[in-house]
Amino acid sequence: MPARVSPKALLAANWKMNPVNAGDALDLVKGVMPASIAHPDVIEVAIFPPFPWLLGIAEVLEGTTVKLGAQDCFWEISGAYTGEVSPAMLKGWCQWVITGHSERRAYLGETDDMVARKTAAALANDLSVIMCVGELDEHYEAGKTAEVVTAQVKAGLANCSADDSARLVIAYEPVWAIGSGKSAEPEHAYTTMRSIRRIVGELIGAGAARKVRVLYGGSVNASNVESYVELPLCDGCLVGGASLNAEEFAKIVEVTAGVYRHR
Ligand code: PEP
Repeated sequence: MPARVSPKALLAANWKMNPVNAGDALDLVKGVMPASIAHPDVIEVAIFPPFPWLLGIAEVLEGTTVKLGAQDCFWEISGAYTGEVSPAMLKGWCQWVITGHSERRAYLGETDDMVARKTAAALANDLSVIMCVGELDEHYEAGKTAEVVTAQVKAGLANCSADDSARLVIAYEPVWAIGSGKSAEPEHAYTTMRSIRRIVGELIGAGAARKVRVLYGGSVNASNVESYVELPLCDGCLVGGASLNAEEFAKIVEVTAGVYRHR
């Protein structure tokens, strides 16, 4: 049976385009800090605020175990790319970046090729990457999850190598489960995450693939997180909406710490 990669669960808090005010962003990060630093032996927290709040939040996180990430980056380092932010700009204060989030694929027209370029550029600039993949509702209903997710993983990792494995995380996020309150059955998540591990092994070699972490994301909350993090190959969760509520996120951390500690 495939095993977890790390003794620590990765809990990634994707704030999306929230909060709107800098003060609220600082209040939120301060609110999630006590729980986020409470279990450094079994929990690794990474927070992904909107770009304008990164610098202020980096100051709050400095010297703690909590990591900071951006929700996206461009593939070039500098140049005439209005509105874009390069991985070289981020690496001064971020450790992580998300690529291929389904909301960017849906609303910003991101293609697999763009995701591949962003993923490779972020890795080349010493950032760790959470690359998101997941099927649409229609794919799920048609039993095409494995086919769709396999194609996304293959395309997204097209420019990656075994050397990247320790800084590479793949988040399986069924699109129909994101922000919908319809979380996936743990068995469905498990089967898909297992095929992700298999395909990563085929792409970069079994040894390197054992260092690539796989997360579940999609309407994770304090009530259902246990059913995912107890899956034998689940390395943590990517949490969207529930990470905007400090109390709820703290409960997610506590539940996950309990599961990891008593494996
Ligand atoms: C996400 O933003 O990646 C996500 C999974 O969102 P939510 O938890 O709100 O479904």
